[in-house]
Amino acid sequence: MNNFAEKLLIWFDRHGRHDLPWQQERTPYRVWVSEIMLQQTQVATVIPYFNRFMARFPDVRTLAAAAEDDVFSHWSGLGYYARARNLHRAAKIIVEQHDGVVPTTIEQISALPGIGPSTAGAILAQACNQRHPILDGNVKRVLSRYYGFTTWPGEKHTETQLWNRADELTPDKRVADYTQAIMDLGATLCTRRNPRCGDCPVENDCAAAATGQVHVIPATKPKRGLPTKDATFMMVQNSSGQVLLVKRPPTGIWGGLWTLPEVPPNENPAQWSHRVLGVALNESRTLPPFRHTFSHFHLNIKPIYSISTQRGHVMDDGAYSWYNLAETSKLGLPTPVKRLLQQLDNKETS
Ligand code: SF4
Repeated sequence: MNNFAEKLLIWFDRHGRHDLPWQQERTPYRVWVSEIMLQQTQVATVIPYFNRFMARFPDVRTLAAAAEDDVFSHWSGLGYYARARNLHRAAKIIVEQHDGVVPTTIEQISALPGIGPSTAGAILAQACNQRHPILDGNVKRVLSRYYGFTTWPGEKHTETQLWNRADELTPDKRVADYTQAIMDLGATLCTRRNPRCGDCPVENDCAAAATGQVHVIPATKPKRGLPTKDATFMMVQNSSGQVLLVKRPPTGIWGGLWTLPEVPPNENPAQWSHRVLGVALNESRTLPPFRHTFSHFHLNIKPIYSISTQRGHVMDDGAYSWYNLAETSKLGLPTPVKRLLQQLDNKETS
């Protein structure tokens, strides 16, 4: 047996959890239900739910025959109801395709709804003592730290490496205990915040502990690039030099602020301006586009400058107003609009 497994099992014998309800009478059905309940929920919360669930649905056939509402009512409070729905669907499949017996090959059990590779391995290791690695969130954290992997564990290459290491470390003997032990280590000592390395059986070999990186491993998921949106702003000045502004509705982006009229996507700016703003554009030109970044998206702004020979009918609409440039400094303006009006004031539009 490898060093890691050996140390872990010695620790497990002394400090691990041995009296969990699903550790008594370890049938594939009971272990399966417990594993599904434990996917997003802590052990202490799961125990009373597990006991109630087993009292009502003691076997696969009872679960398969139950009404969905009945299953949900025994799940109520655990959250993530897709788990209950999948459990129920899987029970029906087991009755229809496996004669009511939970399958015990990794291929067949993995094919059931809601059972991924790690859950399948955990069920078969614990209920049947079959040798399969597991890699749930806790184990990813433990192994990332133990091996000093600094990349995000959900990243494809890192995940493959973690599966390989998890496989190497899984012993041939006592695999049920080992599986429980590595889950316990992640849940009780190698916790996300404030891990208790001083009590950890593998501290001497742990790369993160040796290099002081316990608090930065595992790496968090890299932020995805922000989405981008495009906006065309009309900078229309009348013959008196006034600029046309529009007050945004109170909610949404720039709620209640004054901005330049924005041409809806797929509209021709001149036609839209004529139809909606009642202005006839002269000498239009596109100014250099620029980007404004919000917390959740980038806005690519294309400003179009134009002079209007008409005042337009928009004065009748409370949302639109012509303003002298000097007055605009008293208005609530978003930064990019302020910047564009500044350009107008500096006559940078010619
Ligand atoms: S030494 Fe600390 S970081 Fe390393 S496996 Fe143990 S608890 Fe986790």
